[in-house]
This record gives sequence, C-alpha cells and structure tokens, in this order.
Amino acid sequence: MAHVISDECVSCGACVETCPVGAIAQGDAHYEIDADSCVDCGACESGCPTGAISAE
Ligand code: SF4
Repeated sequence: MAHVISDECVSCGACVETCPVGAIAQGDAHYEIDADSCVDCGACESGCPTGAISAE
C-alpha cells in the first residue's frame, strides 16, 4: 500500500514538504509518490489544494 497522486494534481508542489520520508517528487505529467518509500502515514493528503492525493 502507498498513497497515490491523481491527474487532479496541478504540480504546485505543496505536498512535497509534508512528506516525512521525502517520497514525493515531480514526475513526467504531475507529482508522483515513490511507492517503495511511502510509509502510508497520510500526512500529504491535507497538504494538497486539489485533493489529488489518496490512499491507493
Ligand atoms: Fe509521504 Fe506519508 Fe504521503 Fe506516503 S502518505 S507520500 S510517506 S506523506
């Protein structure tokens, strides 16, 4: 299990600093969460202004 970022992401970057393990980075189309690093804490969900982050 890992959290995922949907197409609703507008690449604002607001979530990056909310992740305690540095799992979020800019991907090809929008920001992405590295599933191997994510510990499923949920800290990033409230940091997204478009609600693009959810549990997989
Ligand atoms: Fe980082 Fe936690 Fe979000 Fe996973 S759920 S990407 S560990 S802030």
